[in-house]
Amino acid sequence: MMRKQGLSTLAIRMSGSMSGSYAEATTQRPQLVILGTGWGSYSVLRHIDKSMYDVVVVSPRNHFLFTPLLASTTVGTLEFRSVIEPVRDTIFRNAHHFHLAKAVSLDMANKIVKCQSTLSDNAYDISYDKLVIGVGAVANTFNIPGVEEHAIFLKEISDARKIRNRILANFEMALEPGIRTAEQKRLLSTVIVGGGPTGVEFGAELYDFVRQDVSRLYGEQAKQVNVTLIEASQILSMFDARLRKYAEKKIRERDRFNLLQAVVAEVRKDGVILKDGSEIPCGLVVWSTGIAQRKFTKALSVPKNKQEQILVDNYLRLTGDSTGDVYAIGDCSDIEGLHLPCTAQVAERQGRYLAGSLCKTPEKVSPFKFKNMGMLTYIGGYRALTDTPEAKLKGVMSWVLWRSAYLTRLGSWKLRLQVPMDWIKALFYGRDTSRFE
Ligand code: FAD
Repeated sequence: MMRKQGLSTLAIRMSGSMSGSYAEATTQRPQLVILGTGWGSYSVLRHIDKSMYDVVVVSPRNHFLFTPLLASTTVGTLEFRSVIEPVRDTIFRNAHHFHLAKAVSLDMANKIVKCQSTLSDNAYDISYDKLVIGVGAVANTFNIPGVEEHAIFLKEISDARKIRNRILANFEMALEPGIRTAEQKRLLSTVIVGGGPTGVEFGAELYDFVRQDVSRLYGEQAKQVNVTLIEASQILSMFDARLRKYAEKKIRERDRFNLLQAVVAEVRKDGVILKDGSEIPCGLVVWSTGIAQRKFTKALSVPKNKQEQILVDNYLRLTGDSTGDVYAIGDCSDIEGLHLPCTAQVAERQGRYLAGSLCKTPEKVSPFKFKNMGMLTYIGGYRALTDTPEAKLKGVMSWVLWRSAYLTRLGSWKLRLQVPMDWIKALFYGRDTSRFE
């Protein structure tokens, strides 16, 4: 692989089915390779001065996902395409600068990322002058038997789609002639494991769906719907105690919505087994119990913390890279000694910081600083929680704030139009319950 000092070499070596073919183009700009199209990496891509770098993106996903509104798509409050941005809309200098592929390993000595196409068996290398690792994380299963096989995570659009289809399939199956009462009850029961914001928000969306649409469309069946939110300690533990208690109270008040403090020992095809041996039969298990690192991150032989996150310094450079040209941001990384939360807020801010610092001379770059803007979460029934350093709000006003805050955070005018349209459609015409694979 040819590299020229001070210049970037876009060098891609193909292997696999196209073994041997080789494409190379040289430009005057250094090559910045960004891994991922999530909160951190997309933020770098959007804010970087593209006149200074050839920006190459490698990601198994060709869109950015606005995760705070993902739960709303599981029941049709929002449509899937209303919470994603196609990455190719972010002007690339060259159409070859986006790769729908996974980074599989890193050769830091030779500044090469080894990639694997997600569409074919092509494997190839991409060389970099600067590299940003923003590959995010995966759901943590704690190696509990059956989670991978039978539970559905809520991380990607494909997960939300699976959940929506499963809920609708379960409702339809429960209406089939000859179905036994116990089976009907099981199909209409959902278990959510994990009482963090994602689990609570999914429960909130499900509650709204059942109240507003299931009773209208499925009649008596609505009365049999049962939702259990299981949390080993306390729900929304990162929120202010008063707000947390308010959320707990509201959830407990709901008919057939249960909050259970318990530990899951196993997930089976037809239900969940708790550590005390009891069983909760159900037709859907949504698993949201924190994060674990991806295979790619785990395989990197660089300094990491106990959670296997890559350790970076205050400039977001890998502590174990002597070149100083490799950076890590977002959920896959940890600033040594700071241990910031794994949130979109942190990842987005790190991406923006890096886009700025990569375009400055080293002496002008100051360390990354994070100011917490607070947290918002939806708890259902037009109620939300707002926990900021300045204010602790709950209830309907907080829900208005939640919706307005996320509406303004959406990255494009297209989504800012689409999202309120979906909200209005759901309000006046109900959620779309069409089911298709
Ligand atoms: P991600 O956004 O996960 O992006 C990772 C990217 O890397 C993806 O594009 C992925 O496809 C790509 N990738 C994966 N493997 C590879 C590979 N091998 N090579 C190249 N690319 C790869 N945070 C908040 O602050 N507020 C909220 O309200 C909030 N709500 C959430 C709701 C849900 C349902 C979820 C799941 C999360 C929520 N979060 C929220 C957390 C927030 O989404 C994450 O902290 C954030 O996405 C982390 O950003 P990231 O850039 O590190 O990773």
